[in-house]
Order: sequence, then structure tokens, then C-alpha cells
Amino acid sequence: MRRILIVGAGQSGLHLALGLLRNGYDVTVVSNRTPEDIARGRVTSSQAMFDMALAHERALDIDLWGDAAPPIEGIQFTVPGPDGGRAVDWAARLRAPARSVDQRIKMPAWLAEVERLGGKIVIHDATPADLEVYAAQYDLVLVAAGKGTISSLFERDAARSPYEAPQRALALTYVNGLAPRPEYSAVCFNLVPGVGEYFVFPALTRTGPCEIMVFEGVPGGPMDCWADVRTPTEHLERSRWVLSTFLPWEAERCAGVELTDELGVLSGRFAPTVRRPVATLPSGAAVLGVADVVVLNDPITGQGANNAAKCAASYLESILARGDEPYDAVWMESAFERYWADARHATEWTNALLAPPEPHMLELLGAAGGLPDVASRFVNGFNDPRDYAEWFLDPAGARDYLARSAG
Ligand SMILES: Cc1cc2nc3c(=O)[nH]c(=O)nc-3n(C[C@H](O)[C@H](O)[C@H](O)COP(=O)(O)OP(=O)(O)OC[C@H]3O[C@@H](n4cnc5c(N)ncnc54)[C@H](O)[C@@H]3O)c2cc1C
Repeated sequence: MRRILIVGAGQSGLHLALGLLRNGYDVTVVSNRTPEDIARGRVTSSQAMFDMALAHERALDIDLWGDAAPPIEGIQFTVPGPDGGRAVDWAARLRAPARSVDQRIKMPAWLAEVERLGGKIVIHDATPADLEVYAAQYDLVLVAAGKGTISSLFERDAARSPYEAPQRALALTYVNGLAPRPEYSAVCFNLVPGVGEYFVFPALTRTGPCEIMVFEGVPGGPMDCWADVRTPTEHLERSRWVLSTFLPWEAERCAGVELTDELGVLSGRFAPTVRRPVATLPSGAAVLGVADVVVLNDPITGQGANNAAKCAASYLESILARGDEPYDAVWMESAFERYWADARHATEWTNALLAPPEPHMLELLGAAGGLPDVASRFVNGFNDPRDYAEWFLDPAGARDYLARSAG
């Protein structure tokens, strides 16, 4: 039986571990947090996942929440105008619902599932020296440590990483009591030009259904406002301040909100980075990076957990196809390139939305209000960002598509 070790018990590491266990591999997961640490800890993400990514979980029978997590049925897109009203405001339905399950619920349950299926769990903060030991003992070592410092073993790929610094100041606020959107549930995505983005949607947290507020402030701007926040109560107050200052219609929905729990808040920032997929250790042994370790995108498009699921599914297929052949560095590169052929679309689209929007994008997003097909195509691209290349990211393709849609 081939022996595989995975560092990191997050979205990608556990998904891959469970997939390998179901296929008869001997799997060890190294986690620097116990299930209790994760369950009782701070929120880490807003983790909205769309149908393609959820389908990968369903295929392995590891979508353990199904209908318990409230459905996200569509996406609403709003841009305030100079008069304080809504200059752009439209919504469209997703073809299949998205869902968000707090990683504080999901990862402990998946760790229990790893054990139930015969996998081993080692609680340890893995170091580069540990990787040498693992590489000598296992047929394959994967590093799925997310934004953990060990990820810096993987060299930044400058050609695939247009940004060297964080592009948004991020904050999360998990709340109860937010007034639901009347028509159907949705990610309400608000873009405040020059200031940043705010989106909010239903989710399942450890106290039950909730709403997650996500703030993406342009660095140095007024929504980059979390540095002096000291307590969860202050964090909630600052969240309200952002909304009442820039998005009064969203503030109205928040009249009765309270935090789900004292650890339902987060703030931080990071530079979006694509890394080389293989790290070569001093001994010459190679280890393969997974998901955020190698393709770390800003959360503005909510793709990281989706990509983590897609990466796990893609790597699982590559490992199964490898049979008994060695997992050498050449194979690792090819496994990554297979995943990147898909992930690069999410990365290119996400990086484009971090920049000031190009004229053709503004035209498309403006026109979508009167053209339901355009709105629907944009919204459903969150599920499969490969679609954006030809019509949203390409100015000529955008012109053609708009002309066809309007005619
Ligand atoms: C504010 C914010 C909002 C987001 N919202 C969304 C969203 O709505 N939709 C979406 O799809 N994505 C979202 N994401 C991104 C998403 O959460 C991540 O991309 C996803 O969790 C990445 O999965 P992963 O497996 O690569 O890493 P993670 O899920 O981060 O897991 C890494 C694990 O490795 C462990 N670890 C780290 N170092 C070590 C070590 N040395 N030894 C052992 N264990 C280690 C960590 O403790 C962690 O458990 C958001 C992210 C942020 C920051």
C-alpha cells in the first residue's frame, strides 16, 4: 500500500486525505491544531463554495452538511453612485446553490472521518526538517499548509504573480439577526469605487445559521480601518460604521445584528501569490504544494476554498493515474500544471477584479442590469471561472458578446 503524508488539515489537505483513504492508500495527516483547537478557535474564512467544488465533495461522500447549511441562491451586484443611491443594482440566480460551512465545524468533522477510515493524524507543527524525515519515510509528501510559514519553502513564481503586496485589507464579521434579502438568498456584493468591496451571505456556523460579512478595503483607504480595533464589540461597531458610511442599504439590514460568538471576527491581509509547485529539500527530496500553498488568491471573488476542493480532486486523479510509478519531481510538476490549467482562470479573474476595473468590465457590469443573460453569465462564472476568459477578461470578446446580447 502506497504511503502518503499530508501536512495541513484544512480544506484541501483533508479533502485529499479522504479521497486517498477511500481509494485504499495509507494516509497520515499532520495538523498543527487539534480538532478541539479548530472547533473552539477563531474563524478563518467565509468559505462560500459553489456547486462544482461541492460536487467534488459529494463525489467522495464528504459533504456532510448538505441542506443543513442555508442555500445561497444567487448573487446581487451593487455599485453606489455619487448621489449615495445605487448606480448599478441587479441580481441573478445561480444554477445550483452555493453554501458556506464554517471551517470550525467542517475540519474537526473531516478529521474524525479521516480516523474513521483508518488514516493517522499527527498533531505537530511541521518544520522543514520534519519534511526531510517524512520524505524519507513516505512515498509522497504533500504540503497543504495554507498561509502557514512553511509555505515559504515554495519559491514565488513572479511570472504568475502580478502583485508583490496585499491588495486589500480584509475583515470578517459573523453575525446573527441580519435582515434577509426579500427575493431569494444571495451573496450581496457591493463595489465602492476606490474604497473597496463588501459582501454578505448566509452560512452555517457553530451556533447555527448566520450571515458572514466580508470587507475588502483598498489599502490606505477608509475601509482599511481595522488596525486600532481591540475587541470583538469594537469590530462589530467598525463593521456598522463602514456600512452606514458607504452602503446605507446594507446598514439598514444590520439594525438588529449581533456577533455569533467572540471569535467570529477576523482581520488581516496578504499578497496574492502563485508559487512553484515543488520544493526541493536540502537532501534533494521533493515535496508537492497543494491549494493555497501554491495558488493563493485574494478572497474578493470567494475562490480559495473552491480552488482547494478542485486542487484536491485534480491531485487525487493524478495520484490514482500514477499507479505504482514513483512520485518524482517531474510528475509533481505535471500534476500541478494539470490543476493550474483550471486554477489560472480563477487567478486571472481575481487579479483583474483587484485592479481598477477596465472600461469593458464596467460596461458589462452596467449593461447586466438590463440584460438578464449577461447578469446570469457573470453570476454563474463564480462556479466556473474558466468562462470569463473569452467575454469578461478580453475587451474584444466583451464587445462582441455585448453586441450579441443586446441584439
Ligand atoms: C477573509 C477570507 C475570506 C475568505 N472567503 C472565502 C470564500 O468565501 N470562498 C472561498 O472559496 N474561499 C474563501 N477564502 C479562502 C479559503 O478559506 C482558503 O483558500 C482555503 O481554506 C484554502 O485551503 P487550504 O487547504 O489551502 O488551506 P487551509 O484551509 O488554510 O488549511 C491549512 C491548514 O494547515 C495547517 N498548518 C499550517 N502550517 C502547518 C504546519 N507547519 N504543520 C501542520 N499544519 C499546518 C493550518 O493550521 C490549517 O489547518 C477566504 C479567505 C479569507 C482569508
